[in-house]
Amino acid sequence: MDKPPVIAVAGLRKFFPIRRGLLNRRVGDVRAVDGVSFSIAGGETLGLVGESGCGKSTVGRAVLRLIEPSAGTIAINGKDITTASKQEMRALRRQMQIVFQDPFSSLNPRIKAGDIVGEPLKVHGVGRRDEREARVAQLFERVGLRAAQMNNYPHQFSGGQRQRVSIARALALDPGFIVADEPVSALDVSIQAQVINLLMDLQRERGLSYLFISHNLAVVEHIAHRVAVMYLGRIVEYADKVALFAKPLHPYTEALLAAVPLPDPALKRVKHRVEGDVPSPIDPPSGCHFHPRCPYAEARCRSEAPVLRDVGAGRLVACHLR
Ligand code: SF4
Repeated sequence: MDKPPVIAVAGLRKFFPIRRGLLNRRVGDVRAVDGVSFSIAGGETLGLVGESGCGKSTVGRAVLRLIEPSAGTIAINGKDITTASKQEMRALRRQMQIVFQDPFSSLNPRIKAGDIVGEPLKVHGVGRRDEREARVAQLFERVGLRAAQMNNYPHQFSGGQRQRVSIARALALDPGFIVADEPVSALDVSIQAQVINLLMDLQRERGLSYLFISHNLAVVEHIAHRVAVMYLGRIVEYADKVALFAKPLHPYTEALLAAVPLPDPALKRVKHRVEGDVPSPIDPPSGCHFHPRCPYAEARCRSEAPVLRDVGAGRLVACHLR
């Protein structure tokens, strides 16, 4: 029998209710995630891309059940965790971790870095104190820090080093799946490549699966095996990385790629850049959500929502014209 994917998500929805008035009546919803499905195999990276406000970080949190999904199912290694109790989730957290964008605000400034990295081991009752310290020292060395730095506080590290501390903490319980939510966006460009290379090395060594969330397609092109492009709560294109970057099919993917600088100025990518902002997820445009910004929009795009359909070779696109 084939091994199940490390993570399989089907029809994921997350709506945040909008309440008003004295009776706190529900008057609408922020439709942050509206029917997202994907799977990630062992040792694979799925890049989840889109502009800020498209719902990609909400997907990352809902998949780990850090926020409760409104609908849909989530399975880790074939086990459905959608309705797992708090106690069950506590045990399951060993298998799945998250690295956040801003390592400064995600690390408690009053706790020594060694204790931050060792905390998950302590919470899960792993080993004796001396064993935990040895494990933390190993993790520090593995992510490119010195064991002596375990006694430093977060402010004593550079931005890149703080993100290394976050990665060490995420690795402490030896998870199989990590959500990396814009993990290099807050770092200097010169440091970004080092952290990305570290994540890739760790993946090769440990067979890790990543959901790599980013607005930066250049970074995703480097690290991902497959890419899902999100627009206003929905996936609009899902493809193998090489195919997607060689020939984007959805007009939104095309526009996102047009904004990525090419290394050789003689090369030309595409013509259309995306104009304007992502519309509000409270009252999304009718039909295809992308129609107000799409240079190819036709009459039916305004009334009929395109279905995400297979166009061959495992590639999915939600557009009436492609
Ligand atoms: Fe553009 Fe229409 Fe395709 Fe939507 S369905 S991306 S509006 S062409």
